[in-house]
Amino acid sequence: MAQVPVAEGLFTFPSDEPQLIGSRCTACGIVTFPAQGSCPRCASTEMSEQMLARRGRLWAWTTQDFPPPSPPYRGPVGKAFVPFGVGYVELPGEVKVETRLTESDPDVLAIGMEMELTLVPFRTDDDGNEVVTFAFRPVS
Ligand SMILES: [Zn+2]
Repeated sequence: MAQVPVAEGLFTFPSDEPQLIGSRCTACGIVTFPAQGSCPRCASTEMSEQMLARRGRLWAWTTQDFPPPSPPYRGPVGKAFVPFGVGYVELPGEVKVETRLTESDPDVLAIGMEMELTLVPFRTDDDGNEVVTFAFRPVS
């Protein structure tokens, strides 16, 4: 089965060590994810692409116990839906990334724990491709 990214420009693909693709404002230095064409802080349009750190710290999290609103959510619904963890991972000196987590077990997740970027299967598209999206997993 072929793999395709859930969206272009979100992360490097294919890659054994994927990185999220963000942007940095060359005027004030703020980092954004996803990449933006203008700075949310100073409105400069001098944004440069920045590959973000692969590891960060879990900043906040919760469990998604039901399918999110669709659209934009296009993953499994009904009996096929499996609850998953969502949260923010703070990449040091960069940005807090809103992300899916590979874990949703409250006994496994803890604020401040080290997390690493990975890619996970999300759904199968109409052409039979496996659509992958990014997620963070605890570093063991
Ligand atoms: Zn700026």
